[in-house]
Amino acid sequence: MIAISSAGTWVDQRAEEFAEAPTEDLLRWVIDQYGADFTVACAFGPESIILIDLLSQLQPVVQAFFLDTGFHFQATLDLQQKMTERYPNLALTVVRPRLNVSQQNAVYGADLPQQNPDQCCQLRKVEPLQRALQGYRCWLSGLRREHAPNRSQTPLLHWDSRQMLKVNPLADWSKGRMWQYILERGLPYNSLLDEGYTSIGCAPCTRRPLPDTDERSGRWQGTTKRECGIHL
Ligand code: SF4
Repeated sequence: MIAISSAGTWVDQRAEEFAEAPTEDLLRWVIDQYGADFTVACAFGPESIILIDLLSQLQPVVQAFFLDTGFHFQATLDLQQKMTERYPNLALTVVRPRLNVSQQNAVYGADLPQQNPDQCCQLRKVEPLQRALQGYRCWLSGLRREHAPNRSQTPLLHWDSRQMLKVNPLADWSKGRMWQYILERGLPYNSLLDEGYTSIGCAPCTRRPLPDTDERSGRWQGTTKRECGIHL
C-alpha cells in the first residue's frame, strides 16, 4: 500500500520511468500491479480500439466499460458490435444513465443537450462513470495530448479526483502513429471518421471540426464547453 504522503512522488516516478518506454511496457506494469482491478474507458474512438487490441495481446480477458448515453450515433453502436465479435476476450460492461432518453426528456426537456450540456453530461456520463469504476483501483483512458490544447499536459499516469490511479498510455501518441497502428493491424474504426468527423461523442453534440482547429473542435461546437466531465 502506498502512503498518501508519498503517493504523488510515487506516481511521478512511474510516469518518468515509462516516459520513454514502449506502451506495452506500461500496460504490462498495470497488469502486474492491478491484475483484475483495472478497467478501460471505451467510447469506441480509435484510441479505445488500440488499447483493447494491445491489452488483448497481453492478458486473457480485457475489462472495459462503455457509457451508453442513449445518444450515440448508430455507427458507434455498429462498431461496438464489431468489437465484441472481433475480441471474444473483451469483457465489456455497458453502463447506462439512471434515466433513459424519454424519461430525461420528460423531466428536463428534449433540448437539455443544447440548453444545459453540463447537466446532461452529468446525468448521462459523469454519474454513470462513478458506477462504472466501482470496485476497481485503476482505470485506463485513451486521452492524447494532441487532441486539443486543454489536453496538452495529459500525464501518462496520475491520481484522479477519487484518488484512483488513472493511466493514459497513449498520452504521447501522435495522430499519425495512431492511424499507422490502426491500419497496420487492420483494426475496425468508426465509419464517421471517413466522413470528416475527427472526434465522435453523442450525436446531438458532435459536428465535423472547423477548419484549422483541433480534433475535438466539433464537440459542443458553438459553446465554450470542452470536456464532458469524466476526464476532469
Ligand atoms: S455529450 Fe451532449 S448528449 Fe451526450 S451527455 Fe453530454 S450534453 Fe448530453
